[in-house]
Amino acid sequence: MSAQITEQKILNALKSVQMPGQNSDILTSEAVSNIVVKDGNVGFTIEISPEQAGAANALKADAENAVNAINGVLSVSVILTAHKPAVSSTSQAPVEAVGEGAGEDLLKPARHVVAVASGKGGVGKSTTSINLALAFAAQGLKTGILDADIYGPSLPRLLGLSEKPRSENNKLLPLSAFGLEAMSIGFLVDEDAPTIWRGPMVMSAVQQMLRDVAWGDLDILVIDMPPGTGDAQLTLSQRADLAGAVIVSTPQDLALIDARKGLNMFRRVNVPVLGIVENMSYFVCPSCGEISDIFGTGGAKAEAERLGLPFLGGIPLDMEIRATSDAGTPIVAENFSSPHAQAYVKIAETLTAQLEKETRTGPAIIMD
Ligand code: ADP
Repeated sequence: MSAQITEQKILNALKSVQMPGQNSDILTSEAVSNIVVKDGNVGFTIEISPEQAGAANALKADAENAVNAINGVLSVSVILTAHKPAVSSTSQAPVEAVGEGAGEDLLKPARHVVAVASGKGGVGKSTTSINLALAFAAQGLKTGILDADIYGPSLPRLLGLSEKPRSENNKLLPLSAFGLEAMSIGFLVDEDAPTIWRGPMVMSAVQQMLRDVAWGDLDILVIDMPPGTGDAQLTLSQRADLAGAVIVSTPQDLALIDARKGLNMFRRVNVPVLGIVENMSYFVCPSCGEISDIFGTGGAKAEAERLGLPFLGGIPLDMEIRATSDAGTPIVAENFSSPHAQAYVKIAETLTAQLEKETRTGPAIIMD
């Protein structure tokens, strides 16, 4: 029987790791949090200050080595977060003021990186992301999905995955499900442990998932963005080399106003908006087949036209879409030929055609 790995053993091991530039170890500096142990796989977070960024990789390796040396440990995943002091800026655009983006190379873990965004939570962004990713994979594209929704990661539930990713050569190995490579902060931190992420921590965790994950040679990476249009979303859009963004909206006017915010955010960082998906667009009565426009369908379509954007399609409000998501077998994987799955497949085809065209002609340059 393998030795039990306790949090105390991990803490004991980490006591030997020095904080760079300080005369103390990482525990005394209170830099370690979110320790998770699952079947020999250990994960935790180390918070560093921006001045320690230069020594970050060495610190991460030291911590990993120390914990790896514990009898019974199979893998160690360390998430580094940097807490940046608020930057005071008189510029009305926070674009240059947030995150660690300025001056660094753009992160491009796939031939095409596509962000799926929404103005607010609960509109079906994650459901759309996973089903589009599955539809891309069904086209024969090597596809990854990154759940960057750090506040409420849903990929573990959507894919029915509860194992922890292993790490190899300082890189996290994505999990695989239904032919997709998948990574989520939800694989790393305990679901029950409430995690309070400050803006800069969000960014650094997401950045690590783009940079420090051993994504295979992907054709396309779908990023399920955090909902909303705040600094974290803005910085993420700047740091990743996005081929484009898809905006998910419900037909309600309020949500459309929110979608517009998302649109403006991408415009500001010159990311082409590939189009709008209207989710929960209509309701098909399961007993009589009658279609009801409970929210007044067409709002997103009209809005897309008004804004000169492609309307990518409408997805019905349907029990099977919700039930398959909750069961960890999204509808495109579970029932590919069903009309609802085919609605996602059509949207994915439109997107692929658009992306390939863009690659041939070069990215669209949007001037403000
Ligand atoms: P978000 O990522 O925008 O917060 P989710 O994708 O998690 O939203 O969806 C919120 C809830 O709505 C989930 O329970 C999901 O299963 C459900 N849902 C999403 N889209 C549909 C749909 N088209 N039909 C039925 N339920 C849906």
